[in-house]
This record gives sequence, structure tokens and C-alpha cells, in this order.
Amino acid sequence: MDVEKIYKNANAYLEGHFLLSSGNHSRYYLQSAKVLENPRTAAELAQELAKQIKIYGIKADCVCAPALGGILAGYELARALGIRSIFTERVEGKMTLRRGFEVKKGEKFIICEDIITTGGSAIESARVIFEMGGQITAFAALANRGFCTRVNSSVKTKLSCKLPYDIPFFALADFDFEIFSPEECPMCKFGSVAVKPGSRGN
Ligand code: ZN
Repeated sequence: MDVEKIYKNANAYLEGHFLLSSGNHSRYYLQSAKVLENPRTAAELAQELAKQIKIYGIKADCVCAPALGGILAGYELARALGIRSIFTERVEGKMTLRRGFEVKKGEKFIICEDIITTGGSAIESARVIFEMGGQITAFAALANRGFCTRVNSSVKTKLSCKLPYDIPFFALADFDFEIFSPEECPMCKFGSVAVKPGSRGN
């Protein structure tokens, strides 16, 4: 499966000059909401992810996704695996489980995101499930930004990766593109101004 091509065809792999939430700049940006806009594409991506998870022998009763970004990917992954799907959400900055979703003691969970960058939201979601007695058997994402090592990839984990070493992480592809501090950004040097993804129609 050529995930990069699927992202490009969906205009989800953007090229430009982007201001990331970290304050750094990048020439590329992944807008996963765009790739999930087409339910058929979303289902195909999730089925491929589910296949990898099954081959590895991961057992799970439920998928849990951090809202908002992870919900669609998590839901489709749960459908492909034939298991439940729930999500955690931030309330005043703190990740919580609401809406009557339940975690039974010993239940096995896959934490699913659309994109894993350093895995911050995913690990917060995992902590919520763990504190309620659930067990995390895997992390999953459609795309990996290349900070964390996924199963079947040679990309090395960087220090900023927040995912634990002892739980496997599955993703369909690595998008390991360069990020620059504003001072060192080559695009800024040419006088271009970084824009926040999501603004100006992207
Ligand atoms: Zn720049």
C-alpha cells in the first residue's frame, strides 16, 4: 500500500511553509482529516493497519482514541478488527473518559491516533485506560512522523518519543520530514512567512 500516494491524492500531504504547534517550521504538513474525508479510503487504511496488528498476534477488546484527531481512525480500526471503539477527550486540558464509556478490569486496548508525532496525546489516553484497570496491548496510527519506532520500520526512536518501549507501535508509513527552528528555517531566509496549517484554505 502506497500510503504517501494516498495522502497526496487526498490533498492530505501539503507542501508549503508551515508553522507547527511546537513553534517550529516545516515544508510539509500532514492533514489526516483530509485522507479520512472519504470513508472508503479510511476503511482501506484501517484494514491494512488491522492486518499488521493481527499478523503480530495482538489481542484487543477495544480501541481507544484521543479526541478529536484519533476518533475516525480509531473507529475504522475497531470496525476492521471487529471490536468496540471509544475515545478520550480533554476537559480543561486533562485527558478524561466521559459519555458513559466503560473500561472493565483486564480489558485489552489499542490506543489509536491519526498521526503519531511524539505520542503525547496517545500516552495520556493510555494512562486514563490503565488507571481504570485496562491493559494497553498496542499503539496504532495511520501515519508516523518518525519520532517513534514502529513495527517493521528502521526509523530509530528519538528522545522526544513518549511511547513506552515495551508496547508495540503500528503505523502504515513514516513521514520523517525535516523541521526547522524559526531562526534556521531556509524558507524564512528567502523571506517567506510560515502559515498555520488549517488557515488560508489548507
Ligand atoms: Zn520558516
